[in-house]
Amino acid sequence: MSAMVSLHEVTKCYLRGKQTVEVLHNLSLNVKEGDFVALMGPSGSGKTTVLNMIGGIDHPTSGEVSVAGQRIDHLRGGRLARWRANNVGFVFQFYNLMPMLSAERNVELPLLLTSLTRHERKRNVHIVLSVVGLEDRMKHKPSELSGGQAQRVAIARALVSDPKLLVCDEPTGDLDRTTADEILHLLQLLNREYGKTIVMVTHDQKAADFATHTLHLDKGKLADEPVKTEA
Ligand code: ADP
Ligand code: MG
Repeated sequence: MSAMVSLHEVTKCYLRGKQTVEVLHNLSLNVKEGDFVALMGPSGSGKTTVLNMIGGIDHPTSGEVSVAGQRIDHLRGGRLARWRANNVGFVFQFYNLMPMLSAERNVELPLLLTSLTRHERKRNVHIVLSVVGLEDRMKHKPSELSGGQAQRVAIARALVSDPKLLVCDEPTGDLDRTTADEILHLLQLLNREYGKTIVMVTHDQKAADFATHTLHLDKGKLADEPVKTEA
């Protein structure tokens, strides 16, 4: 299978006050199409920064980022936003749903920027809500949903533009074990049955066990071994 994600000698620096801090150091990694990768590592090791590079939320200071064969490191502004809207779905730890909107409307949001008609949008929204098993909660607002249901809505929103790549930042970090496992089974289904390539940050070895591959990050570099942390 070909590379879905390729980072080549990526360096990322942030400005903290007047100081430049290098967070990723010459990082190279590949994710093949069809992989479900767990990205693990201590807090502050750069995991979210890696996801931001892969998902086109931010660009590297130097180095190359390619997704589905396309270089994205040189894209900026509107072109990067358009690329992102068409190619990546994001899932976050705290769901990031709009509190005033129903599940149905939250999932519809990414489609408002497309040329789809209202009828087409509604159809696509209903399809993804049924994939995540939430057809019967369509009219509910986030406050009327459990954490697991809210995360399913967020996953439906990530899926609604039919991206090949899902990027998940600690998607089960706020859920109890049973609910976490349900969400992980759903991600595994999306990987196995729907062919989604997934990159998931997690602290949880049990969550990583659902993935096909695990990468360990330590201080902005890949590590061969799990990094020991004081627990
Ligand atoms: P992780 O997700 O592994 O906990 P992050 O990628 O969020 O780590 O952060 C890695 C390092 O980069 C941390 O030291 C963090 O403080 C720093 N950092 C992240 N984002 C920014 C930013 N926008 N500005 C300055 N420093 C940042
Ligand atoms: Mg993080």
